[in-house]
Amino acid sequence: MINSVSIVPDFFQRVKTISFPEVIRVFYDEEPRRSKIHCPFHEEKTPSFHIYENGFFCFSCGEKGDSIDFIVKLYNLRPINAAKLIAERFGLPVSNGPLSRQDMLRLARAKAERLREKRLKEAFDNWARLAGQQVRILAEAIRLQLEEKGLDIEEDLLPLVHELPRLEWWANILAEGTGEEKLELFRNKDFRRWFTCKN
Ligand SMILES: [Zn+2]
Repeated sequence: MINSVSIVPDFFQRVKTISFPEVIRVFYDEEPRRSKIHCPFHEEKTPSFHIYENGFFCFSCGEKGDSIDFIVKLYNLRPINAAKLIAERFGLPVSNGPLSRQDMLRLARAKAERLREKRLKEAFDNWARLAGQQVRILAEAIRLQLEEKGLDIEEDLLPLVHELPRLEWWANILAEGTGEEKLELFRNKDFRRWFTCKN
């Protein structure tokens, strides 16, 4: 029988091979901006919780640690259970023996799923970038007409002029909005009427 104490350090190491940004993405419902989120461990208006490849540091309350520490604090768990929770979510085997056929299948499935999510996200980001360009070009063209012709602008362009604030707002979301805001726009019927959504 394998001594369970000898399993633990190796198991922790294995869990720590998963990068902290990936753990955050799976366990915490806020999209990081410039590698920062609002600190889950204290109230704050401006994000000061910094996300690094191997862990976190909150410049405001001073909380710091790696992915296991994060889950320990977030859910008030013992480290071994936090590590198990991460391992399970990422399809890593919890035991330390050789991988069983079932473990290998689970791991492969989880990896395929993460790859699929990653591709989907890339496709979506790509769509947002292209749609953002379309909206911006249209908004700029309308603004240019307006500046050149003022009140003499052709009548059939007037509806476009009225839409200008909305177009500029959309362009802004597509350029600088959060993933959630972009997704909302992607689903917005008005927006879809204006711009064909490929992908
Ligand atoms: Zn904090």
